[in-house]
Amino acid sequence: MSEKKQGVETLLAQAGHAVDPETGGVSVPIQPATTYARDSDYELISDFGYSRNGNPTYAVAEELAAKLDGGADAMVFASGMAAVVAFFETVNAGEHVVAPRVMYHGAQDWLRRIADKRGIGLTLFDATDPNALAAAVLKDNTRVIWIESPVNPTWDVIDIAAAAETAHDAGAVLAVDSTVATPLTTRALDFGADIVFHSATKYYNGHSDVVAGMLVTRALDARWEEIAEVRKLMGGVLGPFEAWLLQRGMRTMALRFERACDSALKIARHFESHPALEAVLYPGLESHPGHAVAKKQMRNGYSGMLSLMVKGGEEKARRVACSTNVFVPATSLGGVESLIEHRFAVEGPHSAVPKNLLRLSVGIENSDDLIADLEQALATMDA
Ligand code: PLP
Repeated sequence: MSEKKQGVETLLAQAGHAVDPETGGVSVPIQPATTYARDSDYELISDFGYSRNGNPTYAVAEELAAKLDGGADAMVFASGMAAVVAFFETVNAGEHVVAPRVMYHGAQDWLRRIADKRGIGLTLFDATDPNALAAAVLKDNTRVIWIESPVNPTWDVIDIAAAAETAHDAGAVLAVDSTVATPLTTRALDFGADIVFHSATKYYNGHSDVVAGMLVTRALDARWEEIAEVRKLMGGVLGPFEAWLLQRGMRTMALRFERACDSALKIARHFESHPALEAVLYPGLESHPGHAVAKKQMRNGYSGMLSLMVKGGEEKARRVACSTNVFVPATSLGGVESLIEHRFAVEGPHSAVPKNLLRLSVGIENSDDLIADLEQALATMDA
């Protein structure tokens, strides 16, 4: 009888393994060794030789991540940015990269840097215009289209299937930053992406206590081998203890993320017509310009991230961000605790983000408490 395909909740809850065959322990063991002994023929005893090249504790998180996204393999990194840097090492001087104008600012800063330093072409496109991506591509020269969906922090939704077609027609690769969507709502490889990226610092770990990154590949191809070589040579690997914490966080990811999605939608609906706000940006709202594509491409929710555009500009937005009691005023996202941030202040003067935008990362607290907290913070504006 063939094995029944399990739901992601089961896969995650049991970290893919359930019971350690060596001991019967129901938690995965940590292997802290940096190096591995050889046998009497000087052959390695296992697949592991030196921890910068791979470690059994990373392998648990990697196997889970590969299964979640339906990929052929996954690789964990010391941070999301270490994964971004390793991926873009596969782009050569003279080749061209396309990315959204509004996106995670750190990844864009890295793209600008390699464009300046290594002679890589870079075109940034407007993700609110459905024709802009195709117009930005240079046939036979564009090597990578890098997208996020939803786009941080305006949550514009990019049609992944259309982006994959555009990429492949031009002979390019489509890489998707799926940190915000997670494979629980969007399996980008199913829509034709070639590589998926996650800042595992966020929903994967989920407790704001580990910085980590993950790449997942559709194919075990030359590009993937090159990325593995870069990880080994650059040394952007995670510590085994952090990898263990990461897989532990992943065991509760389905529950955490479901709660975050439900609460985010409830908050978005509650504040949609609030007199103190110009707009609420959330792809789960019918009023959001990306809602139709989001409905097509996302399932089981629209993530736990939303933004509020405060009436009265930057000054008022900053005051609201300083007036919450439950939302913590801090950057980052995807943890169990809700965060509020004035995104322009965090990104700095070159930011393309509107100055009145407050980004919310909704955690797993009681959603009525979160709504009441925002209500009282918005009311301070009138005081
Ligand atoms: N991509 C997105 C969408 C992010 O939000 C972040 C971090 O905020 C990153 C990439 C970078 O990941 P890390 O902070 O783990 O290096």
